[in-house]
Amino acid sequence: MSRIAILEKDKCQPKKCNYTCIEYCPGVRMEEDTIIIGEDKKPIISEELCSGCGICVNRCVFNAINIINLPEMLQEQPIHRYGQNTFELFGMPTIEEGSVVGLLGPNGIGKSTILNILSGQTIPNFGNYQEEGNWDKVIEHFKGSQLQNYFKKLSNNQIKIAYKPQMVDQLPKVVKGKVSELLEGVDERNKMEEVVEKLELQNTLNRKLGKLSGGELQRIAIAATILRDANFYYIDEPTSWLDVKQRLNTVEVIRDLTEENRNVLVIEHDLATLDAMSDYVHVMYGEEGAYGVVSKLRGVRVGINAYINGFLNEENIRIRKQPIEFEIRPPSDLIESETITKYTDFHKKYDNFELEVEEGEINQSQVITAFGPNGIGKTTYAKILAGVTKPDSGEIEEEIKIAYKPQYILSDFEGTVQDFLYMNAKGYGTNVFKTDISKPFDLDKILEKQVNKLSGGELQRLATAVTLSQEADVYVLDEPTAFLDVEQRLKVAKAIKHLITRDDTSALIIDHDIVFIDYISDRAMVFYGESAKSGHATAPINLRDAMNKFLSDVKITFRRDKETNRPRVNKQESYLDREQKEKGEYYYLEE
Ligand code: ADP
Ligand code: ADP
Ligand code: SF4
Repeated sequence: MSRIAILEKDKCQPKKCNYTCIEYCPGVRMEEDTIIIGEDKKPIISEELCSGCGICVNRCVFNAINIINLPEMLQEQPIHRYGQNTFELFGMPTIEEGSVVGLLGPNGIGKSTILNILSGQTIPNFGNYQEEGNWDKVIEHFKGSQLQNYFKKLSNNQIKIAYKPQMVDQLPKVVKGKVSELLEGVDERNKMEEVVEKLELQNTLNRKLGKLSGGELQRIAIAATILRDANFYYIDEPTSWLDVKQRLNTVEVIRDLTEENRNVLVIEHDLATLDAMSDYVHVMYGEEGAYGVVSKLRGVRVGINAYINGFLNEENIRIRKQPIEFEIRPPSDLIESETITKYTDFHKKYDNFELEVEEGEINQSQVITAFGPNGIGKTTYAKILAGVTKPDSGEIEEEIKIAYKPQYILSDFEGTVQDFLYMNAKGYGTNVFKTDISKPFDLDKILEKQVNKLSGGELQRLATAVTLSQEADVYVLDEPTAFLDVEQRLKVAKAIKHLITRDDTSALIIDHDIVFIDYISDRAMVFYGESAKSGHATAPINLRDAMNKFLSDVKITFRRDKETNRPRVNKQESYLDREQKEKGEYYYLEE
């Protein structure tokens, strides 16, 4: 059996532990060089000599070591390895002319590594990290496949690539000036006007890049990528910070590329968007940070369903113990629970914005999701409930205590995650915190990392975890799914449900991932109107009614997948789309 040993160097601190791994390794005790000390003073683990006993993994106080037995069937040569005791990638995606191919898998499984290889930034070394990668070897390796031709052209600069990175908030650091200048400069397809309209960018054109919100930057980055005249488009997480309508508009502009026979590879964790955007998907599996495998190409429906079911048939690989289950809950199913607060109709006016809220109540142990576009008053609503802002008319029966996670999270804290938790998380160090918060949010894995160096997903987990540790009646979480993979979204959903049931509290979650919303909602609120002008909020009502209201406003219909029950977007003007619009059932038809 082949085995890989991973050392996370940023966690490993031999000065503090004095090489516990070496001290306890039975191989070393038998005087073999199973673990030696490298030039950088960090241990090097020999994958040939290691017996896989796992003693060093358990002994390392910084959780820096991982020893993994690779699945038997994975006998193939890896495509790339960054260095000794680092991540290993197996397999590459298929290139399908004129199609959108999605990569679906957890964070840390090698998706960006693949994008780096396909864009020519990394030359694959096939596991031989001692030598620099070499294009001739790459071309030879992929002989007879589409990729051979691809790498041939790539190495000769005959392929034009356009790339949208994940972290669009970095954009103002690299590009200066006005939005219109940026977009005009890249408009090689002569589609600027159309794309600007579709992505609702008219109001940003005269503004400077440094002065825009995350959602605006996201749409500008998408526009700047797809306006280029490229052969291949690599798009990393296009939906973060976008509302549902904007997500589906993004789908349209990306799909438009396939009409011109261009190729797209996309990484996306919002399953409804991925579903609507892609023709095919590659499910990726393995172990985060250790190894990643690209499974065979599947049609988008079959691929996403396999992912949801947690089992890859042809490969005979289980990727999750259980399927993700979507329940279709009738409204009567909701158990009545105690009221946390009630309010009358209320109204709030700012200079340029006005909010009307219908009377409603918030109950214990229920997750309410709130949806609607950005700038429609969701945050204002939460502030009024908390008594931070006073309404102009109407009354809140009981002012409540709110813990709030904003949509944009600041990360300028100097210190480690552990320091941050000591200072900000309530109950940190207790067993309850460990089981109810640390575990589902996977905090132990990042304790030693510097907060200002965390990835988007790590920062999101930390911020949401700390918010949920506070004492509050209602937890208001603005887009807690951004930058999380599907598995993490699921864990977060379960953790929130558990915590609010445990404490008889409630959560109000603003999110735009329909599959997540469907999974987590007990009730839902719709915010509608005109962004930055006027907003109306319904009471918290049952999900189907809320969805129906929301989707009829944006003129999108969904249906249920027959096999997994997950929500799927209907194509505009398809038979079902027309039937559902006629019947006024925008979310799904009764069976
Ligand atoms: P994903 O995009 O699926 O989140 P990545 O391709 O970014 O995954 O990373 C996969 C693994 O490779 C991660 O564990 C990451 O730490 C590791 N990795 C990425 N770049 C390097 C590098 N230059 N050196 C060593 N390890 C790396
Ligand atoms: P959402 O949470 O749905 O994105 P918000 O409640 O944050 O929306 O904001 C709705 C509108 O109210 C925005 O146009 C915003 O600029 C405006 N607004 C929010 N707070 C204030 C304030 N304190 N003064 C003036 N305008 C405000
Ligand atoms: Fe040594 Fe391998 Fe056991 Fe670690 S897992 S203690 S390296 S034999």
